[in-house]
Amino acid sequence: MSSTQEKNIPELFGSLVFNDEVMRDKLPKDVYKALKKTISQGTHLELDVANVVAAAMKEWAVEKGATHFTHWFQPMTGITAEKHDSFISPVDGGKIVLEFSGKELVRGEPDASSFPSGGIRATFEARGYTVWDPTSYAFIKDGTLCIPTAFSSYTGEALDKKTPLLRSMDAINKQAKRVLKLFGKDVTRVLTTVGPEQEYFIIDKEAYLQRPDLIYTGRTLLGARPPKGQELEDHYFGALKPQIAAYMAELDEELWKLGILAKTKHNEVAPAQHELAPIFSTTNIAADHNQLTMELMRKVADKHGLACLLHEKPFAGINGSGKHNNWSISTDAGENLLDPGTTPHENAQFLLFLVAVIKAVDDYQDAMRISVASAGNDHRLGANEAPPAVVSIFLGEELDGVLNAIADGTPYNGVERILAHIGAQVLPHFPKDTTDRNRTSPFAFTGNKFEFRMLGSTVSIAEPNIILNTAVAEVLSQFADELESASDFLPALQALVKKTILEHRRIIFNGNGYDDAWLEEAEKRGLSNLKTTPEALAKLLSEKNVALFKKHGVYTGKELESRYEIHLENYSKIINIEALTLSDIISRDIVPAVIAYENELAELLVRKSKLGASEASLERRLLDKVSGLGSALGAKLDVLQDAIVEVSGIEDTAEQANAYRNKVFAAMNELRAIADELELLVPAKLWPLPTYGQILYSVI
Ligand code: ADP
Ligand code: MG
Repeated sequence: MSSTQEKNIPELFGSLVFNDEVMRDKLPKDVYKALKKTISQGTHLELDVANVVAAAMKEWAVEKGATHFTHWFQPMTGITAEKHDSFISPVDGGKIVLEFSGKELVRGEPDASSFPSGGIRATFEARGYTVWDPTSYAFIKDGTLCIPTAFSSYTGEALDKKTPLLRSMDAINKQAKRVLKLFGKDVTRVLTTVGPEQEYFIIDKEAYLQRPDLIYTGRTLLGARPPKGQELEDHYFGALKPQIAAYMAELDEELWKLGILAKTKHNEVAPAQHELAPIFSTTNIAADHNQLTMELMRKVADKHGLACLLHEKPFAGINGSGKHNNWSISTDAGENLLDPGTTPHENAQFLLFLVAVIKAVDDYQDAMRISVASAGNDHRLGANEAPPAVVSIFLGEELDGVLNAIADGTPYNGVERILAHIGAQVLPHFPKDTTDRNRTSPFAFTGNKFEFRMLGSTVSIAEPNIILNTAVAEVLSQFADELESASDFLPALQALVKKTILEHRRIIFNGNGYDDAWLEEAEKRGLSNLKTTPEALAKLLSEKNVALFKKHGVYTGKELESRYEIHLENYSKIINIEALTLSDIISRDIVPAVIAYENELAELLVRKSKLGASEASLERRLLDKVSGLGSALGAKLDVLQDAIVEVSGIEDTAEQANAYRNKVFAAMNELRAIADELELLVPAKLWPLPTYGQILYSVI
């Protein structure tokens, strides 16, 4: 493919998207208007309008070479699903025409029986519905017109991640508008915005294909540390290798064609690790785009003879990958509600939204932790490279000082006079660079947005944003209730801000999140520290969480229960697959290699003794060492295999997930430790797998 320089990027951008410009161009004026209204206000779309839109979409898609369409959705697998139907429709004379109706656009009926439903859908009622989400543009991928949709059961329960995400956006819209009204603002819609920074590894495809653990589980289940890791800190922001640069260039182009605002790319901390950040967009679009980004990262890598690893922890001892969820709230007129602003009036409004987020995170810290819980992310959180499993908020010194001054009535940098009069005088300016320094914080204020840094690299960003939106909606609703009934707005606001800071500042922590002392301190403050996925999930169905989601119409009790089941089962299944894979690699690759080496050494010793050689201490020592480790390996393999059998028989899902963690996962780690020791003894020519060094430095 020719170089990017020769291409007209603005023309390329969005060329595969049925976006606003195309709609305006292809749709009759009244139809365009009706569709716009549906998009901006969520109004119902009449079938005759949908018919015209569908016909225009099809015409446009066919011009671009598409032959099929699909309802593109995000089931609880965490990835996307699609079933392709062609546009063909038979007519007389054995001919066909290309057709696409409004009905087909608006609603689809995929068989839902093979997607995880956590008990919501019995197999006899397999029908599920996909419903068009017109707020996310249709696009063309691999010759198929993709219609972004939400997926629900016959009885209306959400079977996907998008439905609750859209519901949570509605919830925060409703409550934020109530609050804005108190400031004299009547806005059409309040939206949350997200810019997810995505980390990933790129390795050589040949190396990848020789590692069954990478193929089956996405991470290496064994492997000794290479002589060189990330200690020289020479990879972060380093110059891109040509093969990587070519890969990134094509990835950018493919993303731009789909209207994805890919903006920043660079090498990350670990060898072979990189990052891509888009410019932020509305949350549901950001979620769609992040899914497409991950899909294209893999696809384009394959084309370049590379493999993209999106797992949270592909290599032990080397930094894992996360996703930073930059999040804010803004009006459809573009006012960022987490921007401090420059006038007293803006400051007051900012402070109210700021303390709403602080309270929401404190009140629902467990739900935030749960939203990022996965088997893969358990390797990172609390492991000195990602934030700890304790949720806390970083505000930066200035802002923290201001909040403390408001709460305690103590002076801060001469602003004490202001503090008694929120809404009367201007707050100091908070320079962005003083708010963005602490990289160890799970949830950091970065000038005009919050950055939630606990997300794993593989997961959909939907769930963390569902809880953020809903928890903040809840606090805003409490604030609105209180302030709407106040006779004098400003003093009531003042008192509310002060009370909220006093009650919730335990969640604010500006120090080093990797420090053990912080964990002790956090415990004293009563913050929750949910170390593993099974431990975290146990809190999902607490009365408080169920009440939150029900009140705001985000999840029904049944939907939440189903998610609990799905996540627990998913956790157990992942550990089970990993355990089986490791057991298989050890039995069929590692044990034979160890035996071959023992055999070589034993034969050598026999030959030497036949010759009457006086010195054989090196061979003897090696043979003793390898034999000893080999025996230990065999014993630990038995332990793992027994644990797999025992734990897979446990009926209760929660008990089973815990047992996978405490027995199977623990046995895997012990087994791995011995295999890694053996790797350093067995000759390279006999070792059946590419080493960490060979994988991490496979791209030159
Ligand atoms: P960095 O963290 O590298 O300094 P920025 O903080 O400018 O870069 O941006 C990081 C991410 O945050 C980008 O994806 C950016 O688009 C996103 N971002 C910026 N403003 C907002 C906002 N108001 N809402 C959501 N995300 C935002
Ligand atoms: Mg950032």
